[in-house]
Amino acid sequence: MLPTVRVRKMALGRGVYAVRRLRRNQTIGEIMGRVIDDPDYGSEYCIELGPDRNMEPVAPFRFLNHSCEPNCEVFSWNPEPGEDPSVSDRLWLQALRTIQLGEELTIDYGWPADVAIRCQCGAGNCRGWVVSEEELPTVLRQQRRKNKAALQTRKEKTR
Ligand SMILES: [Zn+2]
Repeated sequence: MLPTVRVRKMALGRGVYAVRRLRRNQTIGEIMGRVIDDPDYGSEYCIELGPDRNMEPVAPFRFLNHSCEPNCEVFSWNPEPGEDPSVSDRLWLQALRTIQLGEELTIDYGWPADVAIRCQCGAGNCRGWVVSEEELPTVLRQQRRKNKAALQTRKEKTR
């Protein structure tokens, strides 16, 4: 099979780039990795498979970066009755739109609020944080509280 993607070094770490044009809705490839059954497991790259289950992906898709306006999406199949249930532990990457040769592939990490970090994806509709849309209000609330506390500390110091 012809390779569809390539990992390249970029300003901040690494990214995954298309080495040919990809069609909208095209399944780009299976995301291979180690399945980890541990509710406390977390890493920069892991993808949630279920409440207590994660996948630690290997290259190339390990290096998919986040965008608030992604061009790809991760999907899995729910097992049909009688089918091997482990099918739900397999993940695939799909193009959300046409992706040109040389374009970086991105997904929306959709992280929960407690692990959110500042986002630098540069998308026009960037949420400012690497966090799911539903959890963004929580992050902003936490941030306001933190800013208030910092202001309070500064005021006390200048007294
Ligand atoms: Zn962003």
